[in-house]
Amino acid sequence: LNGPVGFSNLPNQVHRKSIKRGFQFTFMVVGESGLGKSTLVNTLFNTSLYPAKEAKIELSSETPSTVEIQAISADIEENGVKLKLTIVDTPGFGDFINNEESWGPILENIEARYDAFLDQENRVNRKRIVDTRVHACLYFIAPTGHALKPLDIEFMKRLAGRVNLIPVIAKSDTMTDEEIKNFKNRILDDIATHNINIYQPPTYENDDPETIQENKEIVSRIPFAVVGADRDIDVGAGRKIRGRKYPWGIIEVDNEEHCDFIKLRQMLIRTHMEELKEFTNEVLYESYRTAKLAESGG
Ligand code: GDP
Ligand code: MG
Repeated sequence: LNGPVGFSNLPNQVHRKSIKRGFQFTFMVVGESGLGKSTLVNTLFNTSLYPAKEAKIELSSETPSTVEIQAISADIEENGVKLKLTIVDTPGFGDFINNEESWGPILENIEARYDAFLDQENRVNRKRIVDTRVHACLYFIAPTGHALKPLDIEFMKRLAGRVNLIPVIAKSDTMTDEEIKNFKNRILDDIATHNINIYQPPTYENDDPETIQENKEIVSRIPFAVVGADRDIDVGAGRKIRGRKYPWGIIEVDNEEHCDFIKLRQMLIRTHMEELKEFTNEVLYESYRTAKLAESGG
């Protein structure tokens, strides 16, 4: 009898193999200090990857002469699936009078990671390639309600061709819904005017209507207006909520009517993590590699 050949199970095979090996993902957070980067990372993964108040203890009197690049790695597990997560933090960004000193070291770091990958690809033994490339960059925009600052535009212009840029409006609980709506429009106008390629979650021809709808909803929230919270708020009756408390009420992190946190997390972790990695490998890294080879006459 002509039963199915069996290749329709290929996606499952890939899945099982990946589960055994575990997944790996690296993303970067960039934005002026105090915009809630560390808090949002903790909120995204529901852990304290950043110990509370770490920065305050280590504060030194001297100002660093350049943006620091710090990487934190953590192995996390959920329902038997392992994820090795690396967060690349960039304290000091925006603290300089000369913009170049802010985006320069970050671009260098991203390219150095491409170089490390390229070196390994060129080796005879390519069995154990370690991928430290940055798969996404969350760019935190200050909730001013005006427009992008020159530094925001400069950073995004310089980095867009090298990394998946995901703009977020930081601390959006400090703005009204109306202000957020207008601010988003202005940001998108600026991004279009300057031809900045931010990351766009793709839709495919054979996607089912549900997936297409989900994608549309994600796209409609960009730039994501986010809220981070490092502690739960007790709302009585044994119920706890992640959010920020105001005299007039609570802004909930996990409520889609209150902010875009859920949609950002969905894209970054639940639906587009593999897409972000693929785009990094096939488009962004490839274009870097090609430019580099041309440069060296290869
Ligand atoms: P970072 O310097 O960008 O890493 O910022 P932190 O995560 O250290 O946060 C700086 C301060 O902002 C802390 O006091 C946080 O509690 C507060 N914060 C973080 N996220 C939010 C947010 O979404 N809304 C508000 N209102 N405050 C926040
Ligand atoms: Mg921080």
